[in-house]
Amino acid sequence: MKEKGGLENLLRSRNLKVTSRRLELLTIISNYTSAIPYSKIQKSLKNFDRVTLYRTLKVLLDGGIIHKAFVNNDDVYYARCRQHCTSDCHDHKHIHLKCTVCREVSCVDVIHPVQIKIPNVIIKQIEIEVSGVCENCI
Ligand SMILES: [Zn+2]
Ligand SMILES: [Zn+2]
Ligand SMILES: [Zn+2]
Repeated sequence: MKEKGGLENLLRSRNLKVTSRRLELLTIISNYTSAIPYSKIQKSLKNFDRVTLYRTLKVLLDGGIIHKAFVNNDDVYYARCRQHCTSDCHDHKHIHLKCTVCREVSCVDVIHPVQIKIPNVIIKQIEIEVSGVCENCI
């Protein structure tokens, strides 16, 4: 399978060992079109215990392969990073849109990137969560 080879290469490109669990988790996240809620990952990967799932997610997060797209009281949503994220730094210029109709969370590019400066502060990451109606639901 083409995508599987791609995912293996993605892990290797971040100096991560290719393991069946990492591949399994990454496949689930990659096949989901928008950001995938933790509860759905858990349901799809019943063979993972809680600790294994937590550790595998952390490896992918630290490796610059996935990021948290949205966090609310019920769930945490994860999405694939694009090419420019690395294990040193997540570089996201997009925002996260939570659709109030289908409740899916997606990574969307903005037309005018938001620039925020705070005196005497080094900003590493800006998280913007937007709710609205996504293009599929308009
Ligand atoms: Zn990232
Ligand atoms: Zn929607
Ligand atoms: Zn995102």
